[in-house]
Amino acid sequence: MFRPRSTERRPRDTSLVWPILLIVPPVIILSVVALYSLREDHAAIDRDARRSAAALATDLARRWGARAGTELATLIASACSGGGLEAQGPTDASGAGLVPLCGLVVDGRIRVPFDYPALPSPPGWLRELTPAQARLWRLVADASPQTDLATLRRMVAPLSGAPSAVRVNAEWHVVRAEVNRDPSPRAAARLADLAKRSVGILSESGTPLSDLALLLALRHLPARELPEALLQDLRQRLVESPSFLSSALVEEAVRVAPGNTGVAGLSARWAANERALALLRHLPLDAERPAEVWLGTEQRAWVALVHPLVASDAGSAPAPRTAFQVTLVPARLIERVFQAAASERDDIPKYAAATLRLGDRTWGTRGAPSASTRPIELASARGQIDLPLAVPSDAVSTFAGELLRIAPQAITARQETPGGVVRLNGVPGGHPFTVVLELTDPDQLYASYRIRLWMAIGLILTATLAAFGGLAATWRAFERQRRLGEMKSNFVASVSHELRAPIASVRLMAESLERGTIQPGERQQEYLRVMGQECRRLSSLVGNVLDFSRIDRGRRQYTFEPADLPALLAQTVDVMRPYAAERHVNLVCAAPPGTTGMGQPRVDREALQQALVNLVDNAIKHSPSGADVVVGLEADPNASGQDAGVPARIRLFVDDHGPGIPAGEQERIFEPFYRRGSELRRETQGIGIGLSIVKHIAEAHGGRVVVRSSPGAGSRFAIELPGPTEAAS
Ligand code: ADP
Repeated sequence: MFRPRSTERRPRDTSLVWPILLIVPPVIILSVVALYSLREDHAAIDRDARRSAAALATDLARRWGARAGTELATLIASACSGGGLEAQGPTDASGAGLVPLCGLVVDGRIRVPFDYPALPSPPGWLRELTPAQARLWRLVADASPQTDLATLRRMVAPLSGAPSAVRVNAEWHVVRAEVNRDPSPRAAARLADLAKRSVGILSESGTPLSDLALLLALRHLPARELPEALLQDLRQRLVESPSFLSSALVEEAVRVAPGNTGVAGLSARWAANERALALLRHLPLDAERPAEVWLGTEQRAWVALVHPLVASDAGSAPAPRTAFQVTLVPARLIERVFQAAASERDDIPKYAAATLRLGDRTWGTRGAPSASTRPIELASARGQIDLPLAVPSDAVSTFAGELLRIAPQAITARQETPGGVVRLNGVPGGHPFTVVLELTDPDQLYASYRIRLWMAIGLILTATLAAFGGLAATWRAFERQRRLGEMKSNFVASVSHELRAPIASVRLMAESLERGTIQPGERQQEYLRVMGQECRRLSSLVGNVLDFSRIDRGRRQYTFEPADLPALLAQTVDVMRPYAAERHVNLVCAAPPGTTGMGQPRVDREALQQALVNLVDNAIKHSPSGADVVVGLEADPNASGQDAGVPARIRLFVDDHGPGIPAGEQERIFEPFYRRGSELRRETQGIGIGLSIVKHIAEAHGGRVVVRSSPGAGSRFAIELPGPTEAAS
């Protein structure tokens, strides 16, 4: 049968648009503003760090430059004030490598420390001998070591007219033979004497004879007895004419007199000289302005502060093309001075490290930053070390002859030659360096920022979740409202229909009776019975609606009084029997034995009957013609054993053999206005509030309504009530 329910589709409601507009954009704006201010925050931290780093770097550069200038000046003054060997002043006894070395290079030749040829070169005197002298010399030179002294002296005698170099060389042969035969301390004295007299004379093989004699003298000295005079000779040799034998001489002196402080000092200075020479030999010298060149190995690094000098010709000697003062500063000294300057500023932030760049090298104030994280440069400042000239401005050098000494005030030549002198003056300018402040620990710098970042992210997430939660809740409420609205309008349509049909039939029958067209008798009786029944249905419908309205407004009141439930049940069945008959349904009342003695629970009789009527009405409505509907009463025995005979629970049930209800809908059917099936296909009458009223009544009694059903197998609706407090007497 077609049911005139509202089926037209209403236009989609737009009431969700406003909540979305009011919630989502603010959340987006909040997030954007938060992220933007965080970015600004990050930039501000960066800016501040760079600003303070710049101030710090400038201050460090100033301090370091000044400090390095004065400290190095003092050290250089004491290390480079002398000439030759003395130029390497105080020895680095601690071995800490903290003493600078000085050098002077003129025209590409190392003048300080005094450089010497690494290999012997043939002496000039050999070429100048007359054939007769040469023959005589060969005899002496080739004499076997076994030749006796008298013979040897006789062989030497004819050479008395030869040049002094030949004579001294011949004497060397004689003395050596004498010493071989008499290796006493006297022999050492004799050799020392010869050494003094043979200064500047080379042996036939090109070795300085003086050094050879000294070496032999040292070898013949008794242990620990080094005469002061010999030490002086040795010092002079090392200062004035060092040679490739000098190292051997020093070693020998140390071997003879290991505890002698003079020897130890000499040895240390010689070692410094050698070191300076070794470094200077590797120094590329093409600078026209002060330059910084790194030399040596990583462990023993030196920086050569190369300072060009202006050479002015003070005589007729040809002017040198280039002159350089070289100050060799150990890397560790640079580092120590830098550390000291940095330690004066104890406000270097923990996230940063100060490094110094000089030439192409860098030092850090703290542990070198790990290679994996490349430090970021925060700021840098340039500075300059102004070094004094180690060679005083009035230093002079002869370049026609040999440059051998640098006196405290001047470089003087050992041999003043008529060639003249050259004056050396310093070129103004210092050695530039850079102090860099690097960001080594970004985690520390941005620690507070990170906390704010996470807080902001947390805030944004919470706000987003809250916004979406709110939207979801709004949407659900909105959907609920929409469904409720829909169901209410369906309800109004259903109620109108349910009212109109019985009223129409009652009106029709009443008019027929009024017109007298119906003959008194059985037909008339039938009309009156149907009219009565329709009116009862109408009043039950209206009762339900009114009740629902009261429940909806929370105004439904109950009056509880003891009631005889089996009687109530029988009465209800009696009320419903005509309707069952009309629907050809067999209504059975099943109150099993024992239920009569269950006592009289306190109930609202009228309400409970209304609930039962609703359940029976539904059962009849959904039963096929000829089926049974059983209305019954059950009592659950009291499990505790106390109050025997008083049931724990009373169950009023209605069984039918209708279509049943799928499990998914067994809860929803108790919602107000809910009716199963589509609006168009509903075959049963009803307005969808019956079961919600039953549920309310059951719960008002402290009980509940339950359904047990499966599609095709019928249903059982039961009102479960708590048992009466006392047993029936
Ligand atoms: P109605 O006025 O539609 O009967 P109810 O609240 O009484 O309203 O019932 C809600 C729905 O539950 C009904 O539409 C029907 O589909 C289903 N229902 C109720 N009782 C039964 C039953 N005994 N057998 C099958 N379905 C039932």
